[in-house]
Amino acid sequence: MAYQRLVPPREGQKIRIEGGKLVVPDTVILPFIEGDGTGPDIWRASKRVFDAAVQRAYGGDRRVVWFEIFAGEKATRLYGSDTWLPADTLEAIREFRVAIKGPLTTPIGGGIRSLNVGLRQELDLYACVRPVSWVRGVPSPVRAPEKLDVVIFRENTEDVYAGIEWAQGTEEARELIRIIGERFGKKIRPDSGIGIKPISIFATERLVRMAIRYAIQNGRKRITLVHKGNIMKFTEGAFRDWGYAIAKREFADRVVTEADLDGGDLPKGKILLNDRIADSIFQQVLLRPDEYEILVTPNLNGDYLSDACAAQVGGLGMAPGSNIGDEIGVFEATHGTAPKYAGQDKVNPGSVILSGAMMFDFIGWPEAARAIREALSLTVARKQVTYDLHRLMDGASLLSTSGFGDALIASMAAVKL
Ligand code: NAP
Repeated sequence: MAYQRLVPPREGQKIRIEGGKLVVPDTVILPFIEGDGTGPDIWRASKRVFDAAVQRAYGGDRRVVWFEIFAGEKATRLYGSDTWLPADTLEAIREFRVAIKGPLTTPIGGGIRSLNVGLRQELDLYACVRPVSWVRGVPSPVRAPEKLDVVIFRENTEDVYAGIEWAQGTEEARELIRIIGERFGKKIRPDSGIGIKPISIFATERLVRMAIRYAIQNGRKRITLVHKGNIMKFTEGAFRDWGYAIAKREFADRVVTEADLDGGDLPKGKILLNDRIADSIFQQVLLRPDEYEILVTPNLNGDYLSDACAAQVGGLGMAPGSNIGDEIGVFEATHGTAPKYAGQDKVNPGSVILSGAMMFDFIGWPEAARAIREALSLTVARKQVTYDLHRLMDGASLLSTSGFGDALIASMAAVKL
């Protein structure tokens, strides 16, 4: 498809797919969406950190050519007032495969529920992948935040969040209530709104498969299916059953279940698969955090659990995130646009910066990812932080968004790769 307004850079190459794997050129074109509100402040600092990390890791042998694409308020200025998520943007992500984005304003009214949900659905980014671990020095509400080190794989396309719902009093809601009553004998109060919670074999299997592959590639030893299957048997309970079934069918040589082990030790080279009821996992991550490594969840549980885990290690301000499909990934800030601070060079760019580290891991540039993470740890350990952490720490130095970026870049020289 020809682009309406975008002109891809002349320099650099795009990521290709060969045999189901990403082939990443040394001078790679990566699209970015800077985001609304504080997005431009954050992006300016983040881009400099990313370029410095690639330079630190590979000298001049590898480089990113950044390609700006548009969504949110900036898109409406360029493409017209109704165009929050232009076809150009979706096409560019499809073509270039890996992109990074800042926070976007959620349009009020109109046909778009949320730009992030739109992106996930249009590009079939079926897994929301969020690693949650503590950065040394970040204030946390728990005594041993370093014990939590999990990666959450949350299903992105189904469940009550998929947006299949009808408002109370509409013809559709009334009709569904009637059919469910007459045909299936289930009574729903006539003044109800209706939401549908589909969970399929297809979506469950591809999510669990992605999580198991991730565990294998990253040397993780435990995977937990999180569900509310004791109550919602045919959706959440089925999610658990289909998860176990695909592990047995496709990964029998690597995965053993808790039931198979029967209290014994995990054999060398194997990965443990177990499951936990959703309410219990909220206790478990607080009380026995080091027993969990990868959590795989349907959409709604994963939404709550991601934020609860992030809070445990010091809040959403620095939590990275990504939405991943088959050979395609969009890496993103997990916080919103914080519009009251827009243009003040004030907010914490840590979430986008750590999402960038995830992106470099995803494209097979782990040294650049390590340079970013370690520089961030060193900087926070020296108590050089933005206002959000500054107000929680004693004796810290207050930095601006750009100043925090500078401090990270300065710390990179000390990072051992
Ligand atoms: P928000 O933008 O996340 O801001 C809420 C508060 O969180 C801020 O006032 C600030 O707290 C803190 N905060 C957020 N980002 C920060 C950062 N980078 N550094 C330091 N502190 C930060 O949530 P919101 O005000 O509810 O939403 C604003 C807009 O963003 C809405 O249009 C919403 O729909 C959208 N949104 C987008 C995304 C996304 O694109 N992924 C996610 C969530 C919300 P203090 O006031 O205490 O300093």
